[in-house]
Amino acid sequence: MKLEVGMLIKTNYSGPYRIKHIIRGCTCPLYMESAPQPAHIHLTVSRPDGSGKFYLSHFFEDTLCSLDKTYCGFKTKLDFDRIIVLPPDGEIQTTLF
Ligand SMILES: [Zn+2]
Repeated sequence: MKLEVGMLIKTNYSGPYRIKHIIRGCTCPLYMESAPQPAHIHLTVSRPDGSGKFYLSHFFEDTLCSLDKTYCGFKTKLDFDRIIVLPPDGEIQTTLF
C-alpha cells in the first residue's frame, strides 16, 4: 500500500490521523547506539481536522508493519505496530490543488 499525504490512517494503538509528511528510505537505528535498520518510513501526522502534530516512525511502507518493537517495554515476545489505512473522507483531492 503506497501512502500519500492527506490519507487518513490509524495505528493498532492510536489514531485516527491525517498524513502530513512522509520520509522514505531512512535507515536510522531504532534507539541510540543500535545498528542501522533496513530502509523504512517516518510519518508526520495530525488529527483528521489538521490540528496537532505527531510522529510515527520505523514503519515499512510495503507491509505497513513496524520494525521489531520488542525492545520497548521489556516485552518477552516479538511485537510489531501496524498502520491501518482508513477510507478517504474526500479531503485528499482538495489538498492536491
Ligand atoms: Zn528512520
